[in-house]
Amino acid sequence: MVNRIIVAIDGYSSCGKSTVAKALAKYAGYTYVDTGAMYRAVALYARQAGIGYSESDNGALLAQLGNIHIGFVQTPDGQHVTLNGEDVESQIRTLEVGELASQISTIKEVRAFLVAQQQAMGGEKGIVMDGRDIGTVVFPQAELKLFLTASPEVRAKRRFLELQAKGDNPDYEEVLRATNERDYRDTHRAESPLRQAEDAVVVDNSHMTREEQMQHIIDIFDRATR
Ligand code: C5P
Repeated sequence: MVNRIIVAIDGYSSCGKSTVAKALAKYAGYTYVDTGAMYRAVALYARQAGIGYSESDNGALLAQLGNIHIGFVQTPDGQHVTLNGEDVESQIRTLEVGELASQISTIKEVRAFLVAQQQAMGGEKGIVMDGRDIGTVVFPQAELKLFLTASPEVRAKRRFLELQAKGDNPDYEEVLRATNERDYRDTHRAESPLRQAEDAVVVDNSHMTREEQMQHIIDIFDRATR
């Protein structure tokens, strides 16, 4: 009987979590869940509904949570996120939606709303989930926890190249500023701040090629499921 487990992958923004998580899910034959995409989908909903983030009053967004239905669909170019049935994959990947997602992810009720859905998805095990609080809050019982890191400059450079490849015209200093700001917010928020679980395996990929990193992670996974 194959030992199917839950793999929790946490780490800073743009450190390649989703690339690793997708590749590992494919290798293992597991389901991949990108929880950042879920926060981004809520942010997109807010944006489309003309609701901004406020430090003191997010009642307008909370009143609408029940109208936000997030799903995932398989497409020829990979898994896409849906918002109320519409494929919004490209719309959620902008710098603006990422910033709003980082803001609204500080709201306790938004986190509870999404965490409950994420926990339900892990019921059958055989899942690779990436985010900021997967090993600490969503699945503290996960059999394998990975914590990915890379320097802010390396991550900003990767994000910059990604945005350029999408046809945007980003400014590197602006991308670096946004990266640092998001790191600060993710690690300092009151609700489920990004932190390394005590039993997580840390992988710093600043100086690893994708292939080196993947081999390293597959070795860790194979040992964990043996
Ligand atoms: O990973 P990604 O950049 O797509 O996530 C967007 C934002 O959602 C992050 O900046 C983070 O603030 C938030 N997030 C979170 N908890 C997660 C996943 C993402 O707070 N599990």
